[in-house]
Amino acid sequence: MPLNLADIFLVAVLVSAFKLMAYAELELGYGFWSYVLFVFCFIELLTLIDENELWQRQQPQFEPKTLHCGKSAKSQALKQCNVCGQLTSDTHCPRCYAKTHFRKPQANARALAWMVTALVLMIPANLLPIMNTVNLGQNTFATIFSGIVILWQDGSYPVAIIIFAASICIPIIKALALFYLLIETQRCKKVEQASKLYRWLEWMGKWSMIDVFVVIILVSLVQLGTVLTVEPQIGIVFFAVMVLCQMMSVHSFDPRILWDRLNPHE
Ligand SMILES: [Zn+2]
Repeated sequence: MPLNLADIFLVAVLVSAFKLMAYAELELGYGFWSYVLFVFCFIELLTLIDENELWQRQQPQFEPKTLHCGKSAKSQALKQCNVCGQLTSDTHCPRCYAKTHFRKPQANARALAWMVTALVLMIPANLLPIMNTVNLGQNTFATIFSGIVILWQDGSYPVAIIIFAASICIPIIKALALFYLLIETQRCKKVEQASKLYRWLEWMGKWSMIDVFVVIILVSLVQLGTVLTVEPQIGIVFFAVMVLCQMMSVHSFDPRILWDRLNPHE
């Protein structure tokens, strides 16, 4: 579930609380603890839903007669539907009518294009301010990095480390990892490790959204006129679009290509 962001939002609420503690005394109410419970129940609920079973109930999977075990579906002229998982040789899925492909079309080129776009956006996302705090009429513009420095100076070391890892380290590591995967599709030396790396990339994608949520929470919550007001700045837009481009890049990549090149004559 790459787009289930409830857990990320929970971390963002905690980070926002730590940031606000520099200006005001805060106490976590019953609503917060109820939200923590809701997040745990919600994530558990999502893991219990089996999409394949739901599709099977709607219409059982058509089983091709001549299916050879141990051989890829592609080598048997079969395509797997991206939406419902149905195996078919038709151009459209017989179960959900989605268009079918052997592999995601132009997977490597699309993944590369999204990631290069993300790298370009990374420059304004890190250089431009993401928010402005107006405290007693005084403006304080914060970039992603200066926000981390302020948290560190206030003594919120764990929060500063989480934001540094999520907003600065992960986007850079993700870009490097995706370039490595693209090279690996040509080289095919460590396919197993590359597949594991891809699964990690898919899971990590959403964690960079923490800072975006922090700005959204602070802007909507802290509106006390000249006493204390938080305003969003253009940097956060570049940052949010950069994270989305990285998620699109990982989504466009097709890990099956790694295995195809390993057995080209299969
Ligand atoms: Zn389908």
